[in-house]
Amino acid sequence: MKEFDYIIIGGGCAGLSLAYELEINDKLKEKTLAIIETREEYKRDKTWSFWKVFNHNFDDCVIKSWNNFTINSPDSSHELTNKKFPYQSIDSGKFYKKINSKLSTNSNISFFKNLSEIKSENSIIFNSVHEEELDKSKLWQHFQGIEIETPKNIFDEEIINLMDFNCDQRNDVHFFYTLPFSKNRALIETTWLSALENQSLMDYDLQLENYIKNNLGIKNYKINFTEKGAIPLFYPSLKSENKIINIGSAGGMTRLSTGYTFLNIQEHSKYIVKNIDNIYGAKIFNLGKKYQFLDNIFLKVLKDYPEKMPKIFFNMFKASSDTVIKFLSNKSNLIEDLLIILKMPKWIFLKKMF
Ligand SMILES: Cc1cc2nc3c(=O)[nH]c(=O)nc-3n(C[C@H](O)[C@H](O)[C@H](O)COP(=O)(O)OP(=O)(O)OC[C@H]3O[C@@H](n4cnc5c(N)ncnc54)[C@H](O)[C@@H]3O)c2cc1C
Repeated sequence: MKEFDYIIIGGGCAGLSLAYELEINDKLKEKTLAIIETREEYKRDKTWSFWKVFNHNFDDCVIKSWNNFTINSPDSSHELTNKKFPYQSIDSGKFYKKINSKLSTNSNISFFKNLSEIKSENSIIFNSVHEEELDKSKLWQHFQGIEIETPKNIFDEEIINLMDFNCDQRNDVHFFYTLPFSKNRALIETTWLSALENQSLMDYDLQLENYIKNNLGIKNYKINFTEKGAIPLFYPSLKSENKIINIGSAGGMTRLSTGYTFLNIQEHSKYIVKNIDNIYGAKIFNLGKKYQFLDNIFLKVLKDYPEKMPKIFFNMFKASSDTVIKFLSNKSNLIEDLLIILKMPKWIFLKKMF
């Protein structure tokens, strides 16, 4: 059986990002890489959005960037502008195509469907696949989005609606998210923060239909693309085999209070490649103990006081746009953390600290 220097299990966002980063930094000229991926074909399956707080490799896969965003509570709307850190959406189809065509030029890189097809005992292994089914009774961000196209120009393409809480909350936390890619094309998502067991929250088609008709006032449209997902808002417990380095969502790259993962994956890939020659000696990369601590309290509040969350999110966005973006993108300093903490209802957060 063939043996490789590096093995990446799971050729999704994290696996391919790491392979690409290794390739463009000439780390696969003398070394070999096997990617273990079960999917039959790569096609657009997700839209990755985030605030661009540092440069990444995928500007040519960006569908659109925005500098303005709103957040709506049931009784008001708040608008923010930020020119320094645009909000970007990446087309996963373009991302897969770009990376796979680059990787196909290097004969040191091979794809396999199963780890059992190769010899792995002496390889450095990066894993992005959850080992077991995750606990559905814990907190998840679950959602469905549709990209719609309208015959007339109706969207303001310069402004996104990050969270619209003008909707049925059903004792959990629910909001809609609208990303206008052009004047007549937008991605609209219904998003829930809840346990995954409650099937009654998953009538996503109906939720989207009602929101588009009643809140956005759009009657005539066609659906170009649908995406559906569930992001665990907890860190999976992983077997700590010291030969395996976990990456992606399985490697704790999701920011638990937001679900944002894409840019953390990019940062982690750069970190791995920088330290690749001494990867077992390098410190384990994480998003920062500070954010783990703060998000843990935030999620406890969210679980016990879901009805307070629209107001809490709304107030958080009353901080300056730089502060809130840096905080949500794990790039805030202590003063900025404090400015966000001061926007939170102190008593219930203090209670959840202990
Ligand atoms: C629909 C959707 C939208 C999202 N939108 C955003 C967003 O806007 N912004 C953001 O920051 N994050 C977003 N996320 C969260 C996160 O960025 C993505 O989930 C991202 O794809 C995580 O990358 P990953 O490599 O960990 O997992 P994946 O991209 O899911 O990659 C895992 C890969 O492993 C493969 N695989 C599975 N089982 C096996 C096996 N046994 N053997 C080999 N291969 C296997 C899968 O086919 C897949 O290709 C979204 C998630 C989803 C599901």
